[in-house]
Amino acid sequence: MKLSEEGDGGRQTFNPASPFLVAGRSIMAQKVAVIGAGEMGHGIAELLALHGYTVAMRDIKQEYIDRGMERLKWSLDKLVEKAQVTRAQADEALSRIHPTLDTAEACRDADIVIEAVFEDVELKKKVFHELDEVAPDKAILASNTSAIPITNMAVATRRPTKVVGMHFFNPPMLMPLIEVIRAEKTSDATLQAAVDLSKSLGKTAIVVRKDVPGFITTRVLAPYMNEAAWIHYEEKVPIETIDAAMRFKGGFPMGPFELADQVGIDLLFTAQEKAGIPVPPPFQQMYAARKFGKKTGEGFYSYKEGRPKLTPEMAGSFDPLRILAPIISEAADLVAMDVASPSEIDEAMRLGTAFPKGPLALADDLGIDKVLAALKNHPRFKPAKILQEMAGRGELGVASGKGFYEHAAAGAEAPGAAARYETILVTKDAASRVAMVTLNRPDRLNTFTVEMFQEIERALAEFEKDDEVRCVVFTGSGERAFSAGADLSAFGGASKAHQFWKVSQLSEHVFHSVANFSKPTVAALNGATMGGGLELALACDFRIAAKRARIGQTEVARGLVPGAGGSQRLVRILGLAKAKEIAMIGDRIMADEAAAIGLVTRAVENEAFEAEVKAFAEKLAKGPPVAMRLIKVMLNRSGDVPIDAALEMEAMAFGLVMSTDDVYEGIQAFMEKRPPAFKGE
Ligand code: NAD
Repeated sequence: MKLSEEGDGGRQTFNPASPFLVAGRSIMAQKVAVIGAGEMGHGIAELLALHGYTVAMRDIKQEYIDRGMERLKWSLDKLVEKAQVTRAQADEALSRIHPTLDTAEACRDADIVIEAVFEDVELKKKVFHELDEVAPDKAILASNTSAIPITNMAVATRRPTKVVGMHFFNPPMLMPLIEVIRAEKTSDATLQAAVDLSKSLGKTAIVVRKDVPGFITTRVLAPYMNEAAWIHYEEKVPIETIDAAMRFKGGFPMGPFELADQVGIDLLFTAQEKAGIPVPPPFQQMYAARKFGKKTGEGFYSYKEGRPKLTPEMAGSFDPLRILAPIISEAADLVAMDVASPSEIDEAMRLGTAFPKGPLALADDLGIDKVLAALKNHPRFKPAKILQEMAGRGELGVASGKGFYEHAAAGAEAPGAAARYETILVTKDAASRVAMVTLNRPDRLNTFTVEMFQEIERALAEFEKDDEVRCVVFTGSGERAFSAGADLSAFGGASKAHQFWKVSQLSEHVFHSVANFSKPTVAALNGATMGGGLELALACDFRIAAKRARIGQTEVARGLVPGAGGSQRLVRILGLAKAKEIAMIGDRIMADEAAAIGLVTRAVENEAFEAEVKAFAEKLAKGPPVAMRLIKVMLNRSGDVPIDAALEMEAMAFGLVMSTDDVYEGIQAFMEKRPPAFKGE
């Protein structure tokens, strides 16, 4: 279940050059049996086969198997069409999948069995009992249930230590998260094997430490739709108002009613009814009228003309906090129960359900006191006790310096407090003096938000002052993207023109800081680099690309011009003819071609990428800081000033550098045949 729109924004794309195809296969599992060939089963089988596993896929009727195989082939063909895998890779994957009607045959020699049958606890228990009978003793039994506690299934077997939850998201090929659930008796080894398997599929694994119904994502997402439905029913607030408010004020990619239509009202209705949860009347009515949503062409909206047409004005005065507060309370309860940490919960919600921001980070932003106020006398939700305790201790979030996370005190850096970043990861290696800024929104292709720009600026200001940092590397989280540019959906609120303007101003300012940063910078292009992503890379001194990276100045395809210095830096780096080709045609080119035309410093084999970037950055960090700074300024200015002035600038730089201790250290080290140790003095 996810909140994202159709299209590939923010979803995982299969990477044909993924090292997992050859090297990253989990060591413990070679053969996997998938039970169920439906919506999830066929997708899980495809994902596994593309990552090198041998897969058996079992269903109860030949027609279900045939349908699953048809969908699987269609999906593989699509990947070939989009050049995400080669025909040979697709054919090879297909040859690894063995459909069968026989459970024993499916499980023969299986290292792990993944169950993906209907969401029905009695059926699942029966299936687990049977799997326990026929699967080898060594085999781990995993369930892909979205909400049923795994212990229910574990007790139906004689191997409860080998039973675990692996909650994939739909579609498994594209969604980047797997929740790995520890049942009451799951052993550490089983849990680790499930985590390893998830990682070998290129996914982020978040461990759910307690076997609570709905785990993290289903549980926290539930009030998004349910609260909306109750408010609509009790107060007659139009669905368009609520959806528009959540989209345009709350920053969610999809409003609750549109999401319910997308998920399927039949599923929502039956799941809640079976779990004994009161089903909001609007869902009951839709269910009775067999208007299940998008799949039947009509639900809360009609889909004859595509997505519901909503505008920011429709949101009126509806306050998204009314729906966010119960979500936050639910997430807070999970922290109190030690199901997962705040950052794990937030990450799971971003990756699994496309929340624009984790609910607990959001709680800190909004203020715990405000969340509690919104839950006062609430007809359905009692505020989580932990929220009341936090408020009692004065831990109100960003405003007080502490909430679910530590925050620097408002207005000033708290002395000694590590600055907290939400959209980037900042690391510093004391030995090599290389700092790393990782754009960290992998679920959104590491696209830029206002917050991300502000955080990059803050990190740069810190590195500027920090003598222990001599080189800064920018990269993207995951393998999919360095950055796909600005995330316009995160700029909420006003008109499009206003959004573009805001993004363009901010990015120009921040990339200017990157370009003029006094220490060397490297853009490590780990994946797709487009639009604003390329502009950041162009502002860096060097660009090293993994061979899988596609690179393009793609603005023109959307009727835009490259901003944030992108056009001007591009022409200075490439020359006029090539710059025009890149900016005016707007194609994405592969890393090798980018290296051939000088757009990137070098293209590196995927497997060697991290090591090469590290070695390159360490070499830069060993350089004499003052001389490096002067060289950078001189070269950056070289195209802008007449040659006489440029030569004078060089002479002055020469004089300046001669007054440093480092020059003597450099000469001394040369004489003594040892590496120099520059101090930057
Ligand atoms: P589905 O109805 O599309 O597929 C279920 C398949 O299981 C059917 O083909 C059915 O014939 C088969 N089946 C039933 N009994 C079986 C048996 N005894 N042995 C083998 N196969 C059997 O359902 P789905 O959407 O793929 O959901 C499967 C599971 O995945 C559920 O537990 C669901 O909660 C979970 N899940 C679904 C989604 C989603 O978005 N659809 C996302 C995450 C998790």
